[in-house]
Amino acid sequence: MAVIGHYIDGKIVTTALSTAGRSSPVFDPSTGAQSGEVLLATGATVDEAVTAAARAFPAWADTPTLTRARIMFKFKSLLERDIDALATAITKEHGKTFEDAKGEVMRGIEVVEFACGIPHLMRGDFTEQVARGVDVFSARHPLGVVAGITPFNFPVMVPMWMFPVALACGNAFVLKPSEKDPTPSLMLAELLAEAGLPAGVFNVVQGDKVAVDALLSHKDVAAVSFVGSTAIGEYVYRTACANGKRAQALCGAKNHLVVMPDADLDKTVDALMGAGYGSAGERCMAVSVAVAVGGVGDALMEKLVPKVRSLKVGPGLDKDSEMGPLVTKEHLAKVSAYVDDGVAAGAELVVDGRGLKLQGYENGYFLGGCLFDNVTPDMKIYKEEIFGPVLSVVRVDRYDDALKLVNDHEYGNGAAIFTRDGDAARAFDRDAKAGMIGINVPIPVPVAFHSFGGWKRSVFGDRNVYGMEGVGFYTKMKTTTARWPTGIREGAQFVMPTTG
Ligand code: NAD
Repeated sequence: MAVIGHYIDGKIVTTALSTAGRSSPVFDPSTGAQSGEVLLATGATVDEAVTAAARAFPAWADTPTLTRARIMFKFKSLLERDIDALATAITKEHGKTFEDAKGEVMRGIEVVEFACGIPHLMRGDFTEQVARGVDVFSARHPLGVVAGITPFNFPVMVPMWMFPVALACGNAFVLKPSEKDPTPSLMLAELLAEAGLPAGVFNVVQGDKVAVDALLSHKDVAAVSFVGSTAIGEYVYRTACANGKRAQALCGAKNHLVVMPDADLDKTVDALMGAGYGSAGERCMAVSVAVAVGGVGDALMEKLVPKVRSLKVGPGLDKDSEMGPLVTKEHLAKVSAYVDDGVAAGAELVVDGRGLKLQGYENGYFLGGCLFDNVTPDMKIYKEEIFGPVLSVVRVDRYDDALKLVNDHEYGNGAAIFTRDGDAARAFDRDAKAGMIGINVPIPVPVAFHSFGGWKRSVFGDRNVYGMEGVGFYTKMKTTTARWPTGIREGAQFVMPTTG
């Protein structure tokens, strides 16, 4: 049985402070068999990691940006070398298909590519002669030790939304990954070391609420980035802010895809299949509600139902699988209970994926694709994030009704419209209350040189992750006003200095 430890000060740590008797089993979701035991950090483990990071920070912050960029370039090439190994590790603990896991690593690599441009991205401003003999210049400085707390659903990509930018800006980083799929975080730590990152600059503490609380209260943690559910994200954001830390929390979602009567239905159905059932719906940008406008519902269902029925569900390492299992037995029970609830509330369960058993994988956490028709906004399956392969179809008469659904929902991560009508698309883009909009694109996750973030209760804080938003989050500005001796006026000045 693999013991999955922490990564502190350049070493994998499985003993001493790290154990303290707390650990948690890790499972292969396709078989239900335990594959490892992850150590859960205590407050002392977190202190050890933060102390190592604080020790490493000054020299790293002093390292020229070009040198930091070169380490990022090397890290990128190592990620490309090991992409299959990383994807396999993701699939074994998360369950998603191997190709999907590779896509996840690739999206992480794109953030590293962005971070390779850090000499340009951190370049400052200079204004000559703001007053006679006086110049002003501004420069971005790293914050110090920053922490990342990440969810189970993207064990490589979501940490890489954060740490490549944070490290490139000159910070030291402590990552607290999900305890459900902890192994890839250690692989990333070892690749960073191989790329030349000095010991202590990047650390991993495995753990649960104990580790999170220790990070949130540690005096040497300057900033906290969180990605996960809304309830925990709100708690993390409030606590971090109350403790004087810079904070951002990206949270839960219920993404709507509006199907207009003029949409290309074949393409729309393909989009709904990928966005609704890819990664078993365990994506914060998954589409979980399709809004059929103006009578398009019947034609949509006619094309959608057979596709959901023929979805190929199987172990993630099987090349033929289109969708893998859910992450844990508890999550399978939770998602199945939502399906039960939808039936009880009167929604029409057109495709029922419950009770799916795969030969040879009888103990895996599999649920077939589930499809509800005639869902209404008062139902729990509409209001709450299910985070599973469950798509709800809501029928409305007019575009305005669809927009109102999107805008009245408590979450506002992503929203998409499928149409051939440019006017409708433009109006939706302007009026939909969501942070990321797709026009004939079902999962509009922005590329690394833009930035990712939702609206409403899908986010707490005022900065998105990655892109220039990430550079802004992980740096603070220093502005210097300089005058050389020849420009100094005679005598003390008791009035507010002005230009001239
Ligand atoms: P989660 O909130 O359960 O866990 C997230 C992190 O918080 C993990 O590291 C976990 O160990 C920690 N945690 C769990 N319980 C805690 C507690 N009581 N106190 C302190 N920390 C705690 O989320 P999850 O189930 O791992 O991930 C799924 C959720 O993440 C979904 O809601 C999904 O929408 C969201 N998500 C959002 C985005 C986004 O960018 N908006 C991206 C990916 C996932």
